[in-house]
Amino acid sequence: MFYKDSDQVYRVRELDSLAWLVHGFGTRQADIPGLFAQLATLKQIHSATCVAAAGRSGVLAKGDALLEDTAGSVVAVKTADCIPILLIDDRHRAVAAVHAGWRGTVARIVQNAIGDMRARFGTLPAELHAAIGPGIGRCCYEVGPEVAVQFGGQGRGHIDLPETNRRQLLEGGVASERIYASDLCTMCHPDEFHSFRRDREAAGRLYSFAGVR
Ligand SMILES: [Zn+2]
Repeated sequence: MFYKDSDQVYRVRELDSLAWLVHGFGTRQADIPGLFAQLATLKQIHSATCVAAAGRSGVLAKGDALLEDTAGSVVAVKTADCIPILLIDDRHRAVAAVHAGWRGTVARIVQNAIGDMRARFGTLPAELHAAIGPGIGRCCYEVGPEVAVQFGGQGRGHIDLPETNRRQLLEGGVASERIYASDLCTMCHPDEFHSFRRDREAAGRLYSFAGVR
C-alpha cells in the first residue's frame, strides 16, 4: 500500500519494516537530491541496460536501471510519465531502481534487472519485493499503431505500462503478493506529478530512489 510521507514522498507500507532500506517515489514537491548527499543516477536512454552503482554517486553512465548493495548509497531514476520500479532484495540487502517507458518495457528491462541482481547479488526472484511507482496510466496513454503493435494491439489505442510491467515481474518469478502498484497516473494528477505528455518541454522530473542505510 502506497502512502505519502512528510517529505512529499510516496512510500510502500510493506517495505517500512525493512530497517536497512531507504526507498521512495518523490512527488514534484519533494527535493530528493537535497535529501541524499550520495545519489547515483544515469543518463537515461530508454534502453534495457543495467548498471551497478557499486558505491559511486553522480551520473554514472548511460542506462536505465541502477543496482546497488553498498551501505550508505542511494540510486535513483528520473521520470515524467515513464514507470519507475524499485526492486528490493531483503536477504542480500540489495536494490534496483528501474526506468521503464514503452521502449524499456518492450525490451523487458525489469526482467533484465532481475537477472542482473541474480548474477551480481545472488537474488532469488521469488524473494524480491517490487514497487511500481507513479507513471502514466492506461487512462491517459493513447499511442499510435507503431507503438500499439509492440503491445499486441492493432491501430491506435491505449496501452497499460504499469500492468505490462507487473506481468513481466510475475513472469520473472516475483510473487504477486510482493508486487505493490501505486495506481497513480502522473498525467491525471498535475498537483503531485510531472508529466511529459501534459507539460512537454516544461515538465520536470520525479525522482524514485532506493538505497542501503
Ligand atoms: Zn491518467
